[in-house]
Amino acid sequence: MNQTSVVMPYPLLGRSLSDLTEWVKQQGQATYRGKQLHQWLYERGIHSIEEVSVFPKIWRQSMADFPIGRSIIRERVVAPDRTIKYLLQLADGEIIETVGIPSDTRITVCVSSQVGCPMSCDFCATGKGGFRRHLASHEIIDQILTVQQDLHQRVSHIVFMGMGEPLLNMDNVLAAIRCLNQDVGISQRAMTLSTVGIPGHIRRLAQHQLQVTLAVSLHAPDQALRERLIPSARHFPLPTLLNECRDYVQSTGRRISFEYVLLSTVNDREEQAAQLADRVGGFQSHVNLIPYNPINDADYQRPERDRIQSFMNVLKSRHIAVSVRYSRGLAANAACGQLRTSRGAQ
Ligand code: SAH
Repeated sequence: MNQTSVVMPYPLLGRSLSDLTEWVKQQGQATYRGKQLHQWLYERGIHSIEEVSVFPKIWRQSMADFPIGRSIIRERVVAPDRTIKYLLQLADGEIIETVGIPSDTRITVCVSSQVGCPMSCDFCATGKGGFRRHLASHEIIDQILTVQQDLHQRVSHIVFMGMGEPLLNMDNVLAAIRCLNQDVGISQRAMTLSTVGIPGHIRRLAQHQLQVTLAVSLHAPDQALRERLIPSARHFPLPTLLNECRDYVQSTGRRISFEYVLLSTVNDREEQAAQLADRVGGFQSHVNLIPYNPINDADYQRPERDRIQSFMNVLKSRHIAVSVRYSRGLAANAACGQLRTSRGAQ
């Protein structure tokens, strides 16, 4: 007997008000149902059309299996600092990590853009696990709605610093940013996109003239060390990467943030701070120092506090704007891609 494969329709999450209106009309429903669906999708966070109690009962029951695009929370770990790590299960069974970071004034969500990551950075738990696939735009949007619903509070900030390299999945990430901005109502200025730098892609991103903050993972002041830490950097010489960054600042008017994971005795010497200042000086930027979060299978250590301070002082003395970001959620294997790895998901 021949097996017929069922092609699932594309999920509703991620569609704009006009697309949803078009869709309800195709289903023989009145135009105003589009607005209702938009509201229930993005404000109430429905998981099935059946939940939309303002829709005619027969119609919503007949549509109960139409995919919305929501994930299932498989695990939820709360760290002592209130950071919450979620393991989310997608429609095909893949697992991703999302982190909710509450503070007194805001809720930030650290979102994943891919299942796994192909960049293989030597100090990164996700990089060690390999790459599975890109996330669809609805799978990115779902992460924000999931945290919002779980915490009963609106998400104010988004950082694309979870699993994956967002610029390798640019079209879906851009579609998710549009929807999160226009349909969910989160300001683009409250979003940060972090990239390791893919040749030509920062330039491509600049053409979209977004208000999103771009963060570039530098991690080393010279090409040889950068290649050791980030193998893909061999395709992107540091001067070329920095030129693309400079052009980005010029064409968007937005300053760039450079991330620098501090690894004891590897990239934390004062001379390296001076070299870094030479590299990033002269254009609108900001250096974000991230003291390394130790992971299994990587032989790196976090520098002592006074080493971090000295590194920062060198940058400050060179008039480079600098801050230190201690990753939260370190307890319970909950930092940076470790929860998924520790649960054996590959
Ligand atoms: N692929 C993108 C975004 C994901 S990672 C990028 O590389 O920028 C977000 C940030 O966390 C990156 O700067 C990454 O280098 C950093 N990071 C990864 N593992 C880390 C660890 N164990 N400790 C500290 N920072 C880490």
